[in-house]
Amino acid sequence: MNKHIYITRKIPDAGLQLLKEKGITFDIGKFKIPPTKKQLIKELKKKTYNGMISFLTDTIDKDVFDSCPTMKVCANFSVGFNNIDINEAQKRNIGVSNTPGTSSTAVAEHTVALMLALTTRLVEGDEFIRQGKYKGWDPDIFVGTDMKGKVIGLIGAGQIGTEVAKILHYGFGSKVIYSDVKQSVDLDNIDETKRMETSEVLKQADIVSLHVPLLPSTHHLINKESLATMKKTAFLINTSRGPVVDEKALVFALEKDIIHGAALDVFEFEPKLTKGLTKLPDIILTPHIASARQSARDMMAVLTAKNIISSFETGQVINKIII
Ligand code: NAD
Repeated sequence: MNKHIYITRKIPDAGLQLLKEKGITFDIGKFKIPPTKKQLIKELKKKTYNGMISFLTDTIDKDVFDSCPTMKVCANFSVGFNNIDINEAQKRNIGVSNTPGTSSTAVAEHTVALMLALTTRLVEGDEFIRQGKYKGWDPDIFVGTDMKGKVIGLIGAGQIGTEVAKILHYGFGSKVIYSDVKQSVDLDNIDETKRMETSEVLKQADIVSLHVPLLPSTHHLINKESLATMKKTAFLINTSRGPVVDEKALVFALEKDIIHGAALDVFEFEPKLTKGLTKLPDIILTPHIASARQSARDMMAVLTAKNIISSFETGQVINKIII
């Protein structure tokens, strides 16, 4: 196949091999950190590319598409797709795809790990020891809370939300409630699991976990007003996309004990951190690593490559993003 694509940064060999087998040639960017839009445009102008594999850190908008008029496909190496201007792509008939399902297990397990880290006060305990403060067993230090019997509120019950629900219901005996724009047959089959309005989930849940895509309708879904409706004892977990949470409002809510704690894997201004976040004792922060498993990365690479191949062979990507 006489097609040439640009890949922003290296993806696992499992995907590159598939492209090679189809005779699709590629250039891989040599960036150590995510490129700026200007750098990306400079790269895309160097040669004639028929498509690209983009990363969630790449801003793919009108200017980027303009810099590569021969582009027919943009396959995002990610489940999220908020970095791409889908309307601009549609105007130009460029197929845009993502990698649904490839990291659901990883992200769900990371989400539950964050919940457990908060309820068991694991990170605080670790810091305490490292600071040389541990002087012997004490029944009053780092008293946590059980997951069993707790009400877990999922906002977004797609592939990741569903995995989280199953781990928590079957593994921990937690009660799951959820809000989603559509009914989830998978979740409705779990005993006692109920769909309700987002406002109701926020009010009832002991732990609120976010699993929605970043869309205009989900931007700042968690804000000053919604945080004020949560239980004072509640935890908030965000492994979806940073801007789903108004982080300034979250810092305020934690400072004023409006909610009890939070754990974030994604950040509103990633990689920059909102002022005050790292000063809070009741928050756990991980550097967008929820999907960081070799198994997930390999599946992402394979599906991304398959989307590129499908676009060139049939004119359609497999996992077309429609908004
Ligand atoms: P999915 O598409 O299977 O599920 C998203 C769900 O959100 C859908 O059921 C959809 O109906 C629902 N939804 C959309 N708008 C909503 C709204 N306004 N209110 C309530 N529900 C709404 O996606 P997924 O695979 O479960 O992934 C969810 C998100 O997780 C992705 O979009 C991505 O941004 C994020 N993600 C993060 C990481 C990470 O490394 N932290 C990895 C993978 C995915």
